[in-house]
Amino acid sequence: MFHPWLIKSVCFSPCPPWLRGGLPAFAFRRRASVKEKTAAPLTLWKALGENCLFVRQRVAAPFRALLRRGFKMAASADAKRHAADVVRTLRREYPDAKCSLDFKTPLQLLVATVLSAQCTDVRVNLVTKQLFAKYTSAAHFAKAPLAELEKDIQSTGFFRNKAKNIKAACQAIVQRYDGEVPQDLESLVELPGIGRKTANVILGTAFGIASGIVVDTHVTRVSRRLGLTREKDPVKIERDLMELIPRKEWVAFSHRMIQHGRQFCVARSPKCDTCPLRDISPRIGVKES
Ligand code: SF4
Repeated sequence: MFHPWLIKSVCFSPCPPWLRGGLPAFAFRRRASVKEKTAAPLTLWKALGENCLFVRQRVAAPFRALLRRGFKMAASADAKRHAADVVRTLRREYPDAKCSLDFKTPLQLLVATVLSAQCTDVRVNLVTKQLFAKYTSAAHFAKAPLAELEKDIQSTGFFRNKAKNIKAACQAIVQRYDGEVPQDLESLVELPGIGRKTANVILGTAFGIASGIVVDTHVTRVSRRLGLTREKDPVKIERDLMELIPRKEWVAFSHRMIQHGRQFCVARSPKCDTCPLRDISPRIGVKES
């Protein structure tokens, strides 16, 4: 009945409200104010901006995410292939790699692993030979006078802290677990002085449980040089390795990496020329000699 132009003129013309509704806009046409003149382009730009935002959020972002996922998958497939090559070579070179700490029981391994911090395994084995003859159970360690325990382990370094942790951990084992070392990660890491690394060593080596990958100084160094991780934090390194290495390899992989780090990929002047991994190692961070 009414032409849309007529309705628009009536309803949206800049005429006073008391006149609006009855007559078309051209009947009251006046010059637009500066504010009105500038408001139109601003509104236009705002609308354009909103459209851009819409396009960015609804169209471009999902597209970018897809692309990113694609690149990530391709990168991760490459990384997994590289990790599989490393695992294969290490398995071939170190078929019998095992923990170099001497122990007969899970408790002995726990104590030896605590002592091995900032100390060589050879030194720890010398100390534990007499220590394990003297203290035969968690209850023995728990009841031992602290000063005496400190003296017994003095040559491993940081002996005050280590003695305190061993005693406290053994007290907790006696009180909470009836003198037996628990077989799960959560319980182990709650023991005083037992971190994720020690817990993984105990579970993997004493119980054969693949709870994670042991990340010590050797595994940290070798993993970074081999390009298996870029991280420096042991927890993040372990997370990266666990993504790349199949679970069934975790325990042996840790031992093999440690052995390789001691034999070839030493901290200073790694023996790259004779290293069995030289053809596949990117030697990240290694200076050319
Ligand atoms: S090639 Fe060199 S840097 Fe790479 S793993 Fe062997 S020793 Fe380490």
